[in-house]
Amino acid sequence: MSILISGGTVVSATGAEPADVLIAGERIAAVIKPGFTAGASGAQVIDATGKYVLPGGVDVHTHMEMPFGGTFSSDTFETGTRAAAWGGTTTIIDFAVQPKGTSLLAALDTWHGKADGNCAIDYGFHMIVSDVNETTLKEMTACVDAGVTSFKLFMAYPGVFYATDGEILLAMQQAARIGALTMMHAENGIAIDQLVAQALAAGHTEPVHHGLTRPPELEAEATSRAITLAAVTGAPLYIVHLSAAPALSAVAEARDAGSQVFAETCPQYLYLSLDDLGRPGFEGAKYVCSPPLRTAEHQDTLWRGLRANDLSVVSTDHCPFCFADQKQLGRGDFAKIPNGIPGVEHRMDLLHQGVVAGRLSLSRWVEVASTTPARMFGLYPRKGVLAPGSDADIVIYDPTASQELSASSHHMNVDYSAYEGMHITGRVDTVLSRGAVLVEAGEYRGKLSHGSFLARGACQYLT
Ligand SMILES: [Zn+2]
Repeated sequence: MSILISGGTVVSATGAEPADVLIAGERIAAVIKPGFTAGASGAQVIDATGKYVLPGGVDVHTHMEMPFGGTFSSDTFETGTRAAAWGGTTTIIDFAVQPKGTSLLAALDTWHGKADGNCAIDYGFHMIVSDVNETTLKEMTACVDAGVTSFKLFMAYPGVFYATDGEILLAMQQAARIGALTMMHAENGIAIDQLVAQALAAGHTEPVHHGLTRPPELEAEATSRAITLAAVTGAPLYIVHLSAAPALSAVAEARDAGSQVFAETCPQYLYLSLDDLGRPGFEGAKYVCSPPLRTAEHQDTLWRGLRANDLSVVSTDHCPFCFADQKQLGRGDFAKIPNGIPGVEHRMDLLHQGVVAGRLSLSRWVEVASTTPARMFGLYPRKGVLAPGSDADIVIYDPTASQELSASSHHMNVDYSAYEGMHITGRVDTVLSRGAVLVEAGEYRGKLSHGSFLARGACQYLT
């Protein structure tokens, strides 16, 4: 069975030009000059006239059904991956979580149990290591063999995920040995916890204090410390959800010096700010995530970092909690508000809005949303590019359509939108995953269990 996507403009990380895309089964057979349809006879034709044709989005930072603070993020793998597909993301990499005192492989089994057979799109896993010891260090090798080639450590959340500098050093040494990528949540959680305790003792319980007790300096300090530990151990490093200008400076300096240091940011740090966290009443709880939203002047710096490739990837850190019940756990105590913002559905649109606003080039949009994340996490060229042999994960995007983001129209299983009422120029038109049409003409046509697990290779940027 073959499909010809004809008449569109194929956008890649290196340019944009009119071309047709021929799909045979689950793979791309050819990217052809327009009008040259030999070999495509009998193919089902999808008309992409006036639209962009791009490789499906790759979101390397999601948390479906993640346990946090006594509850679970509200999207299951089923609802979350379906929402991702609606928004033009055809691959996610989610985080398996090792609870303290348990094994990495057991955690991996648990996450396979949640995801397998339930995903609309293809998916992989990173592993959160919250207990660094002899056994788990050995298990890291088994994880790599099982296609989980990246490990996340936390400098924040003492008592939960937090790892000491010594534990981080050991894990980085092992990661360097086995060719794995270390991902870091870089905030100084020990210092933050003191500021949180002081704020609460002073009666400052509102959501805005979540932001005020996690200042940018403590992200920058942790980022620098992670970079230093990576240098000492020879481990490549990927800073997750970078939010603050001084942290970006630390990454830029390391990259200028030739270090294998990479960083991602997320749409919430490009568009939302501390002002949202300070919305009246308890409204700010909708915007509680860590690192916190920053003052608006950080946003320009992050956009510049994206253009300059000091920020290589945009992921969502999708971690939804419903406002009506889950976020309420922190009413009267901001430290108990579940951390996370929903976003998996809107990443492609919000970044396209950056193109519309002249903040990103068209090619850079595809690069940071699809191609680089695929290469960073060992999925290229299966994912992240429209080329013969690649999976036919394709988004047809209408750059002139307009839409308004809203909880009343989104597909994520959460009762609010962090971008309620925001106007977007551009909209996903059609989405294919491995040659199967998931979204077309405003309807969902995918099926549960279409998505399959991606055993990943090593980071493809390492020398
Ligand atoms: Zn996260």
